[in-house]
Amino acid sequence: MAAAGYQLLIGGERVDGEGGAYDIVNPATEAVVAQAPEASVAQVEAAARAAADAFPAWSRTKPEERAALLNRAADLLRDRMDELIPLVQAETGATQRVASTMQVPTCIERFRRYAKGALEPTTIPLPPGEMPSTALAAGGLMSAMVVRQPVGVVACITPYNFPIVNMAGKIGPALAMGNTVVVKPAPQDPLAVTVFGEVMHAAGFPAGVVNIVTGSSPEVGQAFVASDHVDMVSFTGSTPVGQAIGEVAGRGMKRLLLELGGKGAGIVFDDADLKTAIGSIASVWAFHSGQICTAPTRVIAQRGVYDQVVAGLQAAAGRLKVGDPLAPDTIVGPLISEVQRGRVESLIATGVEQGAELMAGGKRPDLATGFYVAPTLLAGCKPDNAAVQQEFFGPVVAVVPFDDEDEAVAIANGTEFGLYDYVFSGDTTRALRVAKQLRTGNVGLNTAQRNHEAPFGGFKMSGVGRDGGSFGLHAYSEMQSIIWPG
Ligand code: NAP
Ligand code: MG
Repeated sequence: MAAAGYQLLIGGERVDGEGGAYDIVNPATEAVVAQAPEASVAQVEAAARAAADAFPAWSRTKPEERAALLNRAADLLRDRMDELIPLVQAETGATQRVASTMQVPTCIERFRRYAKGALEPTTIPLPPGEMPSTALAAGGLMSAMVVRQPVGVVACITPYNFPIVNMAGKIGPALAMGNTVVVKPAPQDPLAVTVFGEVMHAAGFPAGVVNIVTGSSPEVGQAFVASDHVDMVSFTGSTPVGQAIGEVAGRGMKRLLLELGGKGAGIVFDDADLKTAIGSIASVWAFHSGQICTAPTRVIAQRGVYDQVVAGLQAAAGRLKVGDPLAPDTIVGPLISEVQRGRVESLIATGVEQGAELMAGGKRPDLATGFYVAPTLLAGCKPDNAAVQQEFFGPVVAVVPFDDEDEAVAIANGTEFGLYDYVFSGDTTRALRVAKQLRTGNVGLNTAQRNHEAPFGGFKMSGVGRDGGSFGLHAYSEMQSIIWPG
């Protein structure tokens, strides 16, 4: 059965899935939105081969040509924004606020950013170096330069939370650097990504430069990682899947960019501006129902302000309106699926069994349909509580008290993750001193706002490599050294 309108993009052709099509469910209404194409493993291999065939010519195109195509795709995306926003809302359950800010426009911004990225220098001159006399040669000056070369075929595999934005964050820099791509979105919400494929096709990218394959079977993603045509895997998703990908990729020595799970700490010191601290934490806590890897889901509060922090977060929970994502004042929409709601509810129950006090939420709101969990606050947690150690990917915050700076750092560093932490203190010297002791890729000081030029990625089990700005661009390149006498 053909998936009306939604098709794969393989070697410049829009085609149906050989495995038929499967249902995409609206997480708020639980109704079927549409059907997405179900690719076969043979189609995955065909897409990877098409990308490999397209690579030599694409890697030699002028940077200006790549920039123009990326800008053209951004223009076409902008033209289809009124269609994409409701589609993304229907398949992800994103609220009006999230869909009309982060989910769609950010994707266009990323394309524009990497259109400029295509024009950034790829050659770095080095100072001439004196070569010591050896048995091989008699010395003399050696000049050298580093050339950033594309890696080849990049498999881009993304999670369900921000489907087209995660995709744009990978294919933008990959194409800008002269790579070709094969793309696989998450099974839950691939529809807008297939529209994105139509846009890339219409923008005029040469056949095979961008290939998009969707499916509900685990074999689709696995086949990409295993394909001999793939030179690099750029993956965003959970830590266990990142580990599985790393094992397979290692055998083929494929380059890896892994953006994995997070369990952000928000450290609040006695001298913090509590309005800023609580406001910042509450803003990310509920954003996209907590399905965001950077959220400060562990609030580590100093004893002098602990009660005020808990009371402030409890009051904030009451203001986070839960409901229909299409209603303009809704702040918290549904989780992506029944499976995800089950995971969140089970971890809340374990946290409470292990001694956390339930201060808000912990139950389903009174709504007829949808995979909702009310914003949940767990207080008085011990650092080893499962609710403090494990990722929810839902609207849940766990609060842990601390006495002094060393203890705060030890608690913050006491999980397997290291993606994004936050320090709230009126003493900027202390805030910076603490930040530098945190084993994490990103630290916000008295803010939950991001800077998209800053390299983004994880320490420890939160991943390998960096996205974002020029650093993210370079992640999609190999350094080649060229050396000559003189
Ligand atoms: P997930 O279960 O890890 O899946 C992510 C993607 O990987 C999906 O497309 C999935 O599709 C695919 N996949 C699963 N197993 C695979 C395998 N063995 N080989 C190749 N592909 C495979 O993650 P999710 O549930 O969608 O998203 C939530 C997770 O993403 C959270 O852990 C969150 O922290 C993380 N995340 C991290 C960042 C960051 O920047 N660090 C950003 C957003 C989200 P199939 O299941 O169909 O195979
Ligand atoms: Mg999954």
